[in-house]
Amino acid sequence: MANQQFDFGLIGLGVMGRNLLLNMADHGFAVIGYNRSPQKVKELEEEMVEGTTIKGTSDLKVLVDSLKIPRRITLLVQAGKPVDDVLQELIPLLDKGDIVIDGGNSHYTDTLRRVQYMQEKGFHYMGMGVSGGEEGARRGPSIMPGGDPEAYQHVKPMLEAVSAKVNGEPCVAHLGKGAAGHYVKMVHNGIEYGIMQLISEVYDVLHRGYGLTNDELHEVFKQWNEGELQSFLVEITRDIFLKNDDKTGKRLVDVILDKAGSKGTGKWTSQDAMDLGISIPTIDIAVSMRNLSALKQERVNAAAVYPSAIKITGVSKEEIIQEAREALFFGTMISYAQGLALLFVASKEYNMDIPLPRVVKIWRGGCIIRSTLLEIFYQAYTGNPELPNILLDSHIAALLKSKTANTRKFITTAIQVGIPASALAASLGYFDAYRSAVMPTNLIQAQRDFFGAHTYQRVDEEGIFHSNWQ
Ligand code: NAP
Repeated sequence: MANQQFDFGLIGLGVMGRNLLLNMADHGFAVIGYNRSPQKVKELEEEMVEGTTIKGTSDLKVLVDSLKIPRRITLLVQAGKPVDDVLQELIPLLDKGDIVIDGGNSHYTDTLRRVQYMQEKGFHYMGMGVSGGEEGARRGPSIMPGGDPEAYQHVKPMLEAVSAKVNGEPCVAHLGKGAAGHYVKMVHNGIEYGIMQLISEVYDVLHRGYGLTNDELHEVFKQWNEGELQSFLVEITRDIFLKNDDKTGKRLVDVILDKAGSKGTGKWTSQDAMDLGISIPTIDIAVSMRNLSALKQERVNAAAVYPSAIKITGVSKEEIIQEAREALFFGTMISYAQGLALLFVASKEYNMDIPLPRVVKIWRGGCIIRSTLLEIFYQAYTGNPELPNILLDSHIAALLKSKTANTRKFITTAIQVGIPASALAASLGYFDAYRSAVMPTNLIQAQRDFFGAHTYQRVDEEGIFHSNWQ
């Protein structure tokens, strides 16, 4: 192919980059991919589908010189310094008006800094979240671009082509100003942390507490996935229980060490929510539990100090499965509610203009947190785009109310036998506090005024007051 003939360029041919590039090629775009180490270039070319136009290179100048003007280049490298390193190499090769898109999980503040830096140099720069993992990138992810609206128009047809589709509609939309794309992706991941923790707690109660086998758990999750809990995460959990380990012949899930890793997006969600003063305890606890899981040896030592039987009795299998299903539904709703409430505030505080109806619409397909619930949220936001919290929607309220009794029972059972159900309990606690017209925070205000003269307001009179407590 002659120079300047390729439609799109991609830097970083790892798991996400290689698959997204192959996906672009499937849709008729001529694409070129760069990787600094040649092995991944070779792998890309080996995977090339006949009849598509793909080239790989480990020479950045070749990539830049091969692209149509304005150049449209997506980065899919690790977040942090690698993005800045790639930009420093790329900038001298670019012309004004070229478009660079960071499709990795960059922190939104890094993206804001880079948007300004690249704009000053005459380039367009966008932050874009991509969700769906390896398979999503290859067959259709949910894509969350934000920032530069002019640049978006240059990539919109390609993004719509490669994205997942729900009812024929693409799971991609422009999600607001500045670093909105990366902010939305960060919160998406926070919600994902919450739901994964909730599923693991339900698994713990049913498996360790009630003794359900992997085959039984497979059946339970299979049934759940055919009803109101239908979602990508429930679906893959269903399949996980059946997977055998090649080395031992046991079920693979039983030989996986109970230490959870993380790449930071859940922690960032919690940190930013704290900065904004927004309560997202289900997500906070999910991050904390991964941290606690890392202390394997300490936990083993503590288990010897505080032994416990952890055996659930006095409830039938059908009952506990029903309670588990409703508790998971309840907690999942709350995890979404917290993430969306954070987006509602952050959008205003950071002047991002994030359109929440569009966010939940594009999360319906392709992404890790896709579920039938998103359709319900989409209806709620379509009715009221300024809904501060989905818990205030009447249809959602009716659904939650129908699950609270069994959620309470399930959490009580876990607490009684000593199985940690912290995300479930945090979800219920959040719900109970959010629906409390009166909270005990009057006492906290009294204490603050007692020891620190921090003042308080009164229920019966306007103004700021201080009392002499001693
Ligand atoms: P990956 O498989 O580890 O690939 C990372 C790529 O970045 C490699 O091609 C690597 O090149 C390149 N790279 C790293 N540092 C570089 C540097 N300084 N200069 C040039 N190239 C550099 O990662 P991935 O899973 O595809 O993830 C890429 C991005 O997408 C990350 O931000 C990740 O958080 C995000 N993401 C991942 C997923 C997922 O499910 N994996 C989902 C959504 C978003 P070498 O081969 O030369 O090392």
